[in-house]
Amino acid sequence: MRRFVFTALLAALWSPALPAAPVASKTKPIRVLILDGQSAGPYHDWRLTTAVLKKELEDTGLFRVTVATSPRFGEDFSGFKPEFGSYQVIVSNIDAPDWPSDEKAQLEQFVESGGGLVVVHGADNSFPDWPAFNQMTGVGGWRGRSEKAGPIWYFKDGGLVPDDSAGPAGSHGLRLPFQVVTRSPEHPIMKGLPRVWMHAADELYATLRGPGKDMTVLATAHSDPKNKGTDRDEPSMVVLKYGKGRVFHTTMGHDVAALSCVGFMTTFQRGTEWAATGRVTQRVPADFPSAETVKFRVDIAEMDPAFVKAPRTNSFDGLADAALLAMRRRADELKIEGVAIVAYFEGDTIQSWSSKMAVVGKMKTLPVQEKKGSNLLAIAYAKASEMADTLKDSGSNVRPPMTGEFGWSGGVIVRGKKGFLIAAFSGGKSEDDVKVSRAGVAELKTGL
Ligand code: ZN
Repeated sequence: MRRFVFTALLAALWSPALPAAPVASKTKPIRVLILDGQSAGPYHDWRLTTAVLKKELEDTGLFRVTVATSPRFGEDFSGFKPEFGSYQVIVSNIDAPDWPSDEKAQLEQFVESGGGLVVVHGADNSFPDWPAFNQMTGVGGWRGRSEKAGPIWYFKDGGLVPDDSAGPAGSHGLRLPFQVVTRSPEHPIMKGLPRVWMHAADELYATLRGPGKDMTVLATAHSDPKNKGTDRDEPSMVVLKYGKGRVFHTTMGHDVAALSCVGFMTTFQRGTEWAATGRVTQRVPADFPSAETVKFRVDIAEMDPAFVKAPRTNSFDGLADAALLAMRRRADELKIEGVAIVAYFEGDTIQSWSSKMAVVGKMKTLPVQEKKGSNLLAIAYAKASEMADTLKDSGSNVRPPMTGEFGWSGGVIVRGKKGFLIAAFSGGKSEDDVKVSRAGVAELKTGL
């Protein structure tokens, strides 16, 4: 599926860099502050995505964008003075566990008195224990949220339905394209958009919980049970009121690839204008996606260094990066960090191999009192070398582990056309390491 999507995207659906219309001429630009600076683990690379969000707003000619990078919670906040009052709208691209009470009070005050707030994807994971924030966003997920955060909200028979059952908040399946369905066609953000459009490969957030107060659903997406989904229509864009302030909350936008979708871009640009002014003056671009077809902007997609434009070759060198990228994505989906290795040798026994390695988040775990820490790089190589010797998946026990090995599972070896393809990952539970390694060999096998 991913291969199909990737090929389809490359073949037909690139859009040139078109500025969104209209370009403001006489009116003063809308003052926007993007907040970033923290995310949970490796999942949301705000350094990459903030640059994209900023460009998407500036490309309209309507906004002047400033970025404020917050210290991580627990660090020194004395130098962080973002002056919220100087802006008309704040775009949150931060996923922090908490904030000092001063900063929280300022943000509350800003929205309460009429400032706009835009919440993008993982930013709704933030601040589980800050009641006002959860009221502003309506729903959120992860970071320990449970039924105490409020009911799960989903869409049924034309309205929002609360589900009070107990359990955690937040889930998503693999990143695949999905259809977004308009539910408030007359809202200024949605006016003129198709009723149904195909969003690029993204996380479809489901089972989000929260107070859901004064929340209007602009659009939903069906969470597919075949992709770990709920079989419900999940809110994908909502608007809320908080005091005099307007909030636009989109649950889409996991990474640069998702942000490069023309559908995401358009709704983000329009949602930000609406949150700031209560109006939308932007036209819907001509290359907006249809119900069947993803449309994305190549100039945005290229802002991710992992976006591979080069044609694939059938050499190890040509495939290793793609294989490591596939492993990185799989590890990201499984929310694990560690070290990925791919290797290749020709013939039936190893004489020499080509290999390439990538650190996915971390190379080691540091020692603590109870545990002496792990050298993930060494473990990944130990798995790969065991496989090169035994030609079986690592941890196979076809022979007892030798010095420097511990019979670790998590590596996968397969026979290719002329030799053996190896992928090993170290960092997660064995079964997750195996899943990541499978993604690597699958990619190598496309050409070797
Ligand atoms: Zn995400």
